[in-house]
Amino acid sequence: MTISWISGAERLGDGTIGGPMDTPDAPPRAVWHTTESGAGDAAFESVGAYLMSIHAEPHLLYDPTTDRLGQFGPLDRSARALRNNGSTRTNRTGRVCVQVEVLARANRPFTDYWKPGPSFAALLAAIRSWGVPDRWPAGDLAASPGMPAPRSRSVWLSSGGHYGHANVPGNDHWDPGAVSRTALLAAGEAPSDAGVVVKLSHVIAAARRDPTAAQGSALHRADVLPVERALVAEGLLAAPWADGSFGTKTKAAYSAWQRRCGFHGTDADGIPGHSTLRLLGLTHRFTVRF
Ligand SMILES: [Zn+2]
Repeated sequence: MTISWISGAERLGDGTIGGPMDTPDAPPRAVWHTTESGAGDAAFESVGAYLMSIHAEPHLLYDPTTDRLGQFGPLDRSARALRNNGSTRTNRTGRVCVQVEVLARANRPFTDYWKPGPSFAALLAAIRSWGVPDRWPAGDLAASPGMPAPRSRSVWLSSGGHYGHANVPGNDHWDPGAVSRTALLAAGEAPSDAGVVVKLSHVIAAARRDPTAAQGSALHRADVLPVERALVAEGLLAAPWADGSFGTKTKAAYSAWQRRCGFHGTDADGIPGHSTLRLLGLTHRFTVRF
């Protein structure tokens, strides 16, 4: 199954960035960029907004320090972070040309200090779902602006796999720098004891929308399920309602949890907050992220 939208990635913008691919019969590929900025939530938001304002969106924005992932548009359409090579529209080459902007700088390879987690694993799984092979057909990445990387037009047109922006013909940037190509592809192998991560913003959005949506609607199933299982374990929710949909039963159960934590009135309205969700996660072994 191919993955156009990564579940768990935050939607950035209105979801329209490019158009259909020019050569959908050519091999699928992914291109790695660095934003030449710092990382962290403030950078994530300002760089995301900036890329939209200049119409240079990739498909994905990734923070290597927090494992936060955002998505601007569907992976089966083009992104806009590459320059053309003559009349060849490099953004539109291949079955897919998935572009990832990593919040990092090319002169400090992000694989030296990053903390890839479940979001990165989901990102790589989505790239692989299109048949992008785990190889780097152009060869080396650039180690500095003065040590350019191979940028072969014929390789680009004929070979699927992973490329740095530094490997794309018609372009002159040297990002993402000398990241470890092996570490980057190996990070998708999530360790079997990987902790469950629940995003607070996703759970809040689900708690606001699911109760008024169609029965069983689940805006963020992966985030809501661990919360519901914890509420079941606390004796506050009947097991059949642990279905990934933050419906009225779940909301009532969460309200009971908030009261158990000492909150009252509007502070126990069933919409999760950071302190009560963190408490639930501490007991029931999930980690809360914003
Ligand atoms: Zn780039």
